[in-house]
Amino acid sequence: MNEHDSERIAGLLETDGMEEAESFDDADVIVLNTCCIRENADNKLYGQLGNLKKLKEERPDLQIAVGGCLAQKDRETIRERAPHVDVVFGTHNVGRATELLTEARANGPLTEILEESEAFPSALPVKRDANHAAWVTIQIGCDNSCAFCIVPAVRGKEISRPYGELVEEVRQLASNGVTEVTLLGQNVNSYGRDLTLKLRGSELPDDSELLVGRSWTQGRHTARPLFSDLLRSVSEIEGIRRVRYTSPHPKDLRVETMDVMGEVPEVCEHLHLPLQSGSDQILASMHRGYTANKYLAKIAAARQRIVDLAVTTDIIVGFPGESDDDFEKTLELAAAVQFDNAFTFIYSPRPGTEAADLVDQYVSQDVAAERMERLRQVIERSSLHSNQTRVGLHEEVIVEGRSKRDSAMLTGRTRHNRLVHFPAQNNIRAGSYAQVLVTGARTFNLNGELLEVTAPAKHKTRIPVASS
Ligand code: SAH
Ligand code: SF4
Repeated sequence: MNEHDSERIAGLLETDGMEEAESFDDADVIVLNTCCIRENADNKLYGQLGNLKKLKEERPDLQIAVGGCLAQKDRETIRERAPHVDVVFGTHNVGRATELLTEARANGPLTEILEESEAFPSALPVKRDANHAAWVTIQIGCDNSCAFCIVPAVRGKEISRPYGELVEEVRQLASNGVTEVTLLGQNVNSYGRDLTLKLRGSELPDDSELLVGRSWTQGRHTARPLFSDLLRSVSEIEGIRRVRYTSPHPKDLRVETMDVMGEVPEVCEHLHLPLQSGSDQILASMHRGYTANKYLAKIAAARQRIVDLAVTTDIIVGFPGESDDDFEKTLELAAAVQFDNAFTFIYSPRPGTEAADLVDQYVSQDVAAERMERLRQVIERSSLHSNQTRVGLHEEVIVEGRSKRDSAMLTGRTRHNRLVHFPAQNNIRAGSYAQVLVTGARTFNLNGELLEVTAPAKHKTRIPVASS
């Protein structure tokens, strides 16, 4: 989400006539887009701002802006600790970034934080890093209240973007050669809940199809447009070959979504389902709304409906009150699911969240680090094993470019989102689809041989135009 906001900020600045600079030294404007989900981002920001102070002293015309949810949370601290910052803005006014810079140039440093978005930031220009693939935000904010999480406080309540607008955006992307889209939201399976609440009890307005989609308006008026309907509609768009999404919440993951993943070829057979903990007691104090068994049942149902499904997750270790026994349950569950990969985090207290107040139950850093290491080993074991099962298979990859480590190799992503390195003498444009034979497996990637390019990239490459 945060990276996608960065793309929007970059897009706005470019529309305003700016060009990407090679380094901080070459830049007239530097925007740091921050995230406060875990604590280490705080430390990084102040370190970075410290480095920039010297640059600002040398070149007073340089403008420095800090945006994102950490800026929103720590607005006063940033002002105090880094008075050389020109603009501080939050997650709800990304669209005003360039205007704020202009205002600050005329009137001096300013802070503008809105508590809620005025409008869905959908129409903002975007500078996409990979032109063949695009993120599409389908929902902002979150209505859950996980005890560890700062997202609801900084991103606000859940707001879904109108159905028809999303489908239209993907159609536009596809007509520009984008073939892979990732639908983004904090809780994608509750997509549309707020849209329906707006319509309930009132006559359907003329634009209801735009708001909630055709399948909903054709008679399911008591329900809501389902995320699975959206997956289907997006997959039907000509040119779209791969559809991904992140993240579903285990308590809201519906069979309809699993069925679409199993039935619709464009929807990749990869489920990222954040677990957080394998202990029922910890899940309850986190307010996650499911038990370990319910989580296992969802995975079993998904695996039954979706052939060759890859499952990845997020896990937190050292949540306040987590005992050895609770942690063992997480290890057991991770081993039982055999995750293809996982993002693992040491619990990080976030100010204002419920769990941050449980100071007397904090787990020591040493214990948390040791647990993290044990969990890492379990995850890496299943990850390596699952990669090994791919050896000998033909996999479709979308080419991402030359390998950073070895320029004789190209890298690509499979439908499971596994990274494959394969030798290729001729350059194949990023965004092309190719078949590879998987010849080797490591913990974090596969090795392969190119069989054939099946679909060359279609997106247009932007040619930089120098201004005179
Ligand atoms: N909406 C998504 C999660 C978004 S945050 C969901 O509910 O699954 C991404 C991940 O960051 C979370 O899944 C969690 O594992 C991790 N995370 C969030 N807050 C954290 C905290 N305070 N400490 C450590 N990890 C955290
Ligand atoms: Fe945070 Fe929970 Fe919402 Fe995810 S579902 S964003 S973890 S509050």
